Amino acid sequence: MKDIVEVGQAPPLGQVPKQMYAQVIRQDRFGVPTKAFQIEKIGVPDLEPDEVLVYVMAAGINYNNVWAALGIPVDVVKARQRAGEKEDFHIGGSDASGIVYKVGADVKNLKVGDHVVVHCGMWDRDCPTVKAGTDPMFSTTFRIWGYESNWGSFAQFAKVQAHQCLPKPKHLTWEAAAAYMLVGATAYRMLHGWPPHAVRAGDVVLVWGGAGGLGCQAIQIVRAAGAIPVAVVSSEEKIEYCKSLGARGCIIRKQFDHWGMLPHWKDDAAYAKWLKGARAFGAALWEAVGERKSPRIVFEHPGEDTVPTSVFVCDTGGMVVICAGTTGYNATLDLRYHWMRQKRFQGSHFANDAQAEGLNRLVIDGKVDPCLSRTFSFQEVPQAHQLMYENRHPHGNMAILVGAPREGLKDAPLA
Ligand code: NAP
Repeated sequence: MKDIVEVGQAPPLGQVPKQMYAQVIRQDRFGVPTKAFQIEKIGVPDLEPDEVLVYVMAAGINYNNVWAALGIPVDVVKARQRAGEKEDFHIGGSDASGIVYKVGADVKNLKVGDHVVVHCGMWDRDCPTVKAGTDPMFSTTFRIWGYESNWGSFAQFAKVQAHQCLPKPKHLTWEAAAAYMLVGATAYRMLHGWPPHAVRAGDVVLVWGGAGGLGCQAIQIVRAAGAIPVAVVSSEEKIEYCKSLGARGCIIRKQFDHWGMLPHWKDDAAYAKWLKGARAFGAALWEAVGERKSPRIVFEHPGEDTVPTSVFVCDTGGMVVICAGTTGYNATLDLRYHWMRQKRFQGSHFANDAQAEGLNRLVIDGKVDPCLSRTFSFQEVPQAHQLMYENRHPHGNMAILVGAPREGLKDAPLA
């Protein structure tokens, strides 16, 4: 067989060429995505015994590879070299759908030809934490595939640990199947992974960024549990979208101006002003719910700008669960109310196998839609990330076609 095949022309099942096309980031190109990513020919990687090689049909776009492109906050190539890896490049991509082309010697749960979606949680199976049966998300070996690891989905072949593969929902296109797992499984752990604050029927859940990647998944997971999602958005035009996913009501955050870190409690005037804004937001929340019922769970990711309000509106005995600090990392709260009202502030990061499976089950059952907004060609990996970098990306989640049929997407041949 040829050493390399055209993008979109699958080699015979189970036959792996020596080389592949990949969208590659190198240290001397770090910068905006349109500068950092370039298509190169790279040798197809060898497998460890617990790994499989996936022929990538489509890949999902996430913010982590904007960071990889910039080389900020972490130079991912340097970080891996320090850990002993030899490659001087980064092939990103933390979401994929595809076909298994090769399996490692120890792999029992997969065979060549299986159609899979890939979750991005990796860990060392020999780590004592993992071996002890503790949540592998607490292992020091935990890494995000296609960001903290190399050999992600922005290439014809991706190298993953077998446990990362789950059945592809049959009703979805390859591109829709590649779009949801990272954000969906993260949202699933946030909403179901922190008992006793797992979402229950009838709970009100406040979801920040309801039309965003995480938010669109969170609204649907909350609705699937019989609970009441209320979404926060920045503009009127996102309201219908969130309602179509199941939000009972929406709050437009631009109508308030009390954002940012909490003023010092000794600064009476500033604190009173902040409190007025937070109370008005709380009133808007009750209006969106339709009754004076506060959220048992607040689904947080904006961080510094919104945490004070999230903690304020959270119900007595409720939980604010957070997986990012998009607007900044200083989380401030008034401890007097925090302890008296016995609230919980919980960090959360991606998901373990069971949680990724839980989310995939909701997708297979048609209870959660991937919310694919726009599909790009393989050549457009830089442009898709550039849109995200400039916060001009559409609602929901974006994907790129790698091996999948490319109707409507015209690319020049690469070989
Ligand atoms: P996204 O699609 O860009 O959505 C984020 C949403 O946040 C936007 O739609 C925006 O909605 C809202 N937002 C932006 N600025 C805001 C502000 N100042 N105040 C309140 N809301 C604001 O991104 P995403 O995929 O949902 O990811 C969100 C964050 O979570 C990112 O930082 C990402 O890296 C992180 N993340 C972490 C994990 C993890 O495992 N730890 C997993 C996935 C994502 P409006 O403008 O409509 O309000």
